[in-house]
Amino acid sequence: IEMQSLVEKDRKNVWHHISPYSAENPPMIVEEGKGSWITDHNGNRYLDGMSGLWCVNVGYGREELAQAAYDQIKKMAYTPMTQSHLPAIQLAEKLNEMLDDNYMIFYSNSGSDANEVAFKVARQYHQQNGDANRIKILSRYRAYHGSSMGALSATGQALRKYKYEPLSSGFLHVAPPDNYRKPDNISVEEYNLQRAREIGETIIWEQKETIAAVIMEPLITGGGILIPHPVYVQEVERICKRHGVLLIIDEVICGFGRTGKTFGHQHFNIKPDMITMAKGLTSAYLPLSVTAIRKDIYETFKSKEENSHFRHVNTFGGNPAACAVALKNIEIMEKENLVDRSAELGERLLNELDELKIHPYIGDIRGIGLVVGIEIVEDKHTKEPGSKERVGKLIADCKDRGLIIGKNGDTVSGYNNILTLSPPLSSKDEDIEFIISILKQVFNDNM
Ligand code: PMP
Repeated sequence: IEMQSLVEKDRKNVWHHISPYSAENPPMIVEEGKGSWITDHNGNRYLDGMSGLWCVNVGYGREELAQAAYDQIKKMAYTPMTQSHLPAIQLAEKLNEMLDDNYMIFYSNSGSDANEVAFKVARQYHQQNGDANRIKILSRYRAYHGSSMGALSATGQALRKYKYEPLSSGFLHVAPPDNYRKPDNISVEEYNLQRAREIGETIIWEQKETIAAVIMEPLITGGGILIPHPVYVQEVERICKRHGVLLIIDEVICGFGRTGKTFGHQHFNIKPDMITMAKGLTSAYLPLSVTAIRKDIYETFKSKEENSHFRHVNTFGGNPAACAVALKNIEIMEKENLVDRSAELGERLLNELDELKIHPYIGDIRGIGLVVGIEIVEDKHTKEPGSKERVGKLIADCKDRGLIIGKNGDTVSGYNNILTLSPPLSSKDEDIEFIISILKQVFNDNM
């Protein structure tokens, strides 16, 4: 089909996520992918420096994953999770091996779903424990936890919320640590402790008997790559324990090797009460998500009384083909040692990009594993966020040279100025060299 006619049909019929159709910048129509590269309908190749939306961890075009889906669909395409099946059982067991613990695994389809499940479990758990007032969920500004009403209510990015009120009630936010923008007269460690203690104070001022759970990512990804000092996460865990508040860790982006460990929270040596996963779980070949729930929380749902059952049916959740793909995806990650590869490539990117820090518009470069952020500013001293035009031009220039990078932050607050890089964990050395060389060219041209 002619490109022009495809674009026309797309414009007429498809409502894209986020941006409307734009004649100057029509959406890319992607045809195929191999490794870290995608090809559009015109045959142009791009290195996908964002792994789609941070999810194609093992890269595109994996025959083994296609085969796993095909074999399972041919044998048995669907079993609802009111029953069970072999891939769901094997995957749950495998995830517990990776978590080095024993959680109960609840399946659904998306990261948003997985977080909704966690919020509902938290509220019902407290209710069944005689703490019916514990309904509030605390999260952070700048965090993204999904698009459905509950997950959106936990999201702390203004743009994603303000058009959709009233949102779910009982959601509170506090500021996350932003080490690049911390006050000068305080150490990173002390600043992070302060930010953690604000969570403790909020819990107390709101009355601790009303707080059900805290949800956070190991680091804020979509809100601009805000990597906490370990004392922050550890202190939040301590505060939650002290006040009987459940700690939900959102591993939707950080899981499955993205940060250089199997799960992001493993950098901090904590034991979350619930863990949500999606994206890299199947490398996005099929939709699947998981809420891992501490065993003793699950126990309170086991009574014979129907009232104590968890009212959450999800027709597609735990789809056998998706579970089979997840198992094969994890097998690939292990065989190719992709968690270590993520740590190694992330370090190489940071080392190589370090020289760009002298650039007048780069305020900060930070990363952990294959999650790298470049914070664009108008002025290094005032740290005024880079303008939309400046950030947009850098992204367009990368794309013109065959490199897709991301932009993250929060549009309304003006902090939508963090360029992001999260290529597949399976990227080859030459892919990483390509990313580095394009970024150096683009920043040189935009001095
Ligand atoms: N949590 C985080 C941290 C995410 O980044 C996302 C998606 N970008 C979600 C949850 C929601 O996932 P989904 O889009 O699959 O609903």
